[in-house]
Amino acid sequence: MPTDPFASLKGQVAVVTGSTSGIGLAMARALSERGVKVVLNGLGDAAAIEKARAGLEAETGALVRYHGANMLKPDEIADLVEYAKREFGRLDILVNNAGVQHVEAVENFPTEKWDQIIAINLTSAFHATKAAVPHMKAQGRGRIVNIASAHALVASPFKSAYVAAKHGLLGFTKTVALEVATFGITCNAVCPGYVMTPIVQNQIADQARTRGITEEEVVKNVMLAAQPTKQFVTFDQLNGMLLYLVSDAGASANGAAYQVDGGWTAQ
Ligand code: NAD
Repeated sequence: MPTDPFASLKGQVAVVTGSTSGIGLAMARALSERGVKVVLNGLGDAAAIEKARAGLEAETGALVRYHGANMLKPDEIADLVEYAKREFGRLDILVNNAGVQHVEAVENFPTEKWDQIIAINLTSAFHATKAAVPHMKAQGRGRIVNIASAHALVASPFKSAYVAAKHGLLGFTKTVALEVATFGITCNAVCPGYVMTPIVQNQIADQARTRGITEEEVVKNVMLAAQPTKQFVTFDQLNGMLLYLVSDAGASANGAAYQVDGGWTAQ
C-alpha cells in the first residue's frame, strides 16, 4: 500500500517568519494543511492578521498562533522561537522567510536601507537559528529552511543589499548544515525565481523609475527576461519543495540551494 510521505508531519511544530503575506503565508498554509502546528509571524494590521490566523485554523483544523517579533530585534526573534516551545512544547521546523527589498543604484543606496535589508534578510535567520538549534538538538530532529532567492546565486543590478544578504544567507545555510548534520537536523536554502507577491508588485514601480521604462516592460523585459519559463513561480511549486525538505524523505538533503526559478540560474 502506498504510504503518505508527509504523514509524519502531523503534530509537528513550525515557526515561519514573515508569514503574514506572500510566500510565508502560503508555506504556513501548506504546513497547517498537513497537521503541523504553526506560529505565524510578520508585520501588518492586527485585525487582518488575526483574521488570517483564525481562518487558517478553521480551514485546516491545525492549531495556529501568531507572534509579532520584529526581525530587526534579536530579543524578539529569540522570543518567537521560545514562544513555539512554550505554546506547543517543541519545535521541529523553522522557516526563515521574512524579507524586504530596495532597488537603487549603489551610489544612491540609502545606508539605513542597506542595514535594514541585511538585518531582516540575513541576520534574523542567524538569531532564529541560534535559538532553535538547541531545541532541535535535544529532540534529535529538526528542519531549517531558509528562503533565499535566485539572487543567492546570481546578481542583478540595483539590488546590492538584497543580493549580498541572500548570498550571505546561502553561506550561513551551508555552515549550519555542517554543524547540525549528526543531530538529525538539516538546513537548506530554497531559491525562488520571481513569484508574484507584494514584494515583487512593489518592485515593479521602483524598477520602472530606476530604469526609466514602463511597468509592463519591467515585467516582460526585466523580471521574466531572466526566467526561461516566462512564468512566475507559484506558491504550490515552492510548497512542494518545502514539504519535501521538511519531510522524512528530505533527511539527506542538507546544506544545499534548491533553485525553483524556471531555469534562471542555469544560464
Ligand atoms: P512579502 O512582502 O509578501 O512578505 C514578506 C513578509 O516578511 C511579510 O509577512 C512581512 O510582514 C514580513 N516582514 C518584513 N519585515 C519584517 C520585520 N521587520 N519583522 C517581521 N516580519 C517582517 O514578500 P514575499 O515575496 O512573500 O517574500 C518572502 C521571502 O521570499 C523573502 O525573503 C524574499 O526575499 C523571498 N523571495 C521572494 C521572491 C519573489 O519573487 N516574491 C523571489 C525570491 C525570494
